[in-house]
Amino acid sequence: MEYIDVLISKPSKGSSGKTGLWRTFKPVYKEDKCVSCFECYVYCPENCISLKDLKIEIDYEYCKGCGVCSNVCPAEAIEMIKEV
Ligand code: SF4
Ligand code: SF4
Repeated sequence: MEYIDVLISKPSKGSSGKTGLWRTFKPVYKEDKCVSCFECYVYCPENCISLKDLKIEIDYEYCKGCGVCSNVCPAEAIEMIKEV
């Protein structure tokens, strides 16, 4: 019988360094608007959103500023702003 190797990728923090270093846009969390649905946590491709007391925290050392979290948020609780 012949076997085929299969590689399955899963979200994880940047393996080749801190992706936050080359971010041009930054997600800013607005806690007062958050409805704790955790869509952002589920969809962040860098796995850099963590949950704490029904709120989120963003690890800016690994966030690459892709904006996925902001796009999936139903409450407009994450705003993308340009890095200075
Ligand atoms: S997607 Fe928006 S509303 Fe849902 S947990 Fe994240 S910030 Fe809060
Ligand atoms: S912008 Fe949002 S979805 Fe993209 S890496 Fe940063 S926290 Fe994750």
